[in-house]
Amino acid sequence: MSTALPGDDQMRQEAQARARIDQELRTRFAPEDDALRGANDRAQAEGLPAIQISPIQGKLLQVLAIACGARKILEIGSLAGYSGVWLARALPSDGRLITLEVSAKHAAVVRQTFQNANVADRASVRVGPALELLPALIPEAPFDLIFIDADKGNYPHYLDWAIRLGRPGTIIVADNVIRGGRAFQVPPPDESAAGASAYNNKVLADQRLVSVAIPIDDRGMDGFAISVIR
Ligand code: SAM
Repeated sequence: MSTALPGDDQMRQEAQARARIDQELRTRFAPEDDALRGANDRAQAEGLPAIQISPIQGKLLQVLAIACGARKILEIGSLAGYSGVWLARALPSDGRLITLEVSAKHAAVVRQTFQNANVADRASVRVGPALELLPALIPEAPFDLIFIDADKGNYPHYLDWAIRLGRPGTIIVADNVIRGGRAFQVPPPDESAAGASAYNNKVLADQRLVSVAIPIDDRGMDGFAISVIR
């Protein structure tokens, strides 16, 4: 008699096991405090979409920032400041996080989040379309870590700016580069997949970068591209 489980049961059990593992990893490696939970609560109360990174992604950003000795961090796409808090907490007391956000409403929530997390001394938000704000950052470069998490269609342009505002050793992280596999379809089926696809192709073709992509969202369907400037 076969002991193999029917396909549906096996898939359900695997999904449950993955959820348990994810929960264990979050609890052990990336516990949230009141300030982080508050960022998401405030976002929900203000009607912002729940599209922030996961706690494990936040912790990975911290690990990367500390690994490269980051003193200056740039983020493109702030939402409510959740990822900003993870990043700002990786900085020394005289470090600096600048996060760019197109929505004035989102930026107001970000400022409150930074106050509540006691990182407002080192973290600030600038309001406007990122491509218009980025040129003003040239005098503040180089940044040690740059996190890209905004409109996917502009990801290739954000990569150009990240390289320009970085230095050898700068780490560039971009979220949402897998899109449930849609980023690998030819042609990509939607605008965000097209942006992610173009970003992936660009980092892979650029000899100045060493890059990897990892699935790291809750369901393993989306994730980070991580590049370092040689
Ligand atoms: N990094 C945030 C986190 O994990 O907590 C999530 C950022 S959310 C995915 C994307 C944000 O980018 C939104 O708040 C959106 O308003 C902003 N955004 C979209 N297009 C933008 C643009 N052209 N310039 C700056 N920000 C933009």
